[in-house]
Amino acid sequence: MTRRDVIRGAAALAAAKALAQAAPPFTLPPLPYAASALEPYIDTQTMEIHHDKHHKAYVDNLNKAVAAHPELANRKLDQLLRDLPNVPEPIRVAVRNNGGGHWNHSLFWQTLGKPKEGPSGKLAAAVDKSFGSREAFEGKLQAAGLTVFGSGWVWVMPQGGGLAIETSPNQDTPIMSGREPLFGIDVWEHAYYLKYQNRRAEYLSAAMHVLNWDFLSQRYSGMAG
Ligand code: MN
Repeated sequence: MTRRDVIRGAAALAAAKALAQAAPPFTLPPLPYAASALEPYIDTQTMEIHHDKHHKAYVDNLNKAVAAHPELANRKLDQLLRDLPNVPEPIRVAVRNNGGGHWNHSLFWQTLGKPKEGPSGKLAAAVDKSFGSREAFEGKLQAAGLTVFGSGWVWVMPQGGGLAIETSPNQDTPIMSGREPLFGIDVWEHAYYLKYQNRRAEYLSAAMHVLNWDFLSQRYSGMAG
């Protein structure tokens, strides 16, 4: 190895480091539709602020948390969340809250859309098996969303060939216990306050009109055992 090779190697290393610094590990995914796509059920301004400000803040704060821990550089988000006890203690709460926020919202945007039809295939069968009808399922989902005290999520979990509904506080996510949700509905006030103020029940009812059943039916068919 010549001196020139050493210098070239050092330059390449510096360039790689600069690139790593320029590209934080976690990035905000774009909304898969226009911010106005869910009108009138979820308004444009709520979608813009929710995605561009709230979700972005989770991503930025997650990147800040892991920046001082290069040993975490290659960990995927779900690996971090599934193994929180082994995340360094000084950033564990930040990873739980901001990593949970990033994971939950990334799924949430895909969950929404303007559906033309209801659940199909295995998902339709699972809805009928566990709840008797789509209407009963949506009723249970809304009722569970109302029981969340303060900020949190209501989740639909694949379970035994059917579905189960559960809730979590804050940005806690089923991924933290190694379980993959079919979908979740955000019941933080920031998800609905501009249009619905304190009327969470109206927001939850509106949300039933913008569930992307094509996406959810496809997702469930890949999950159901
Ligand atoms: Mn949110």
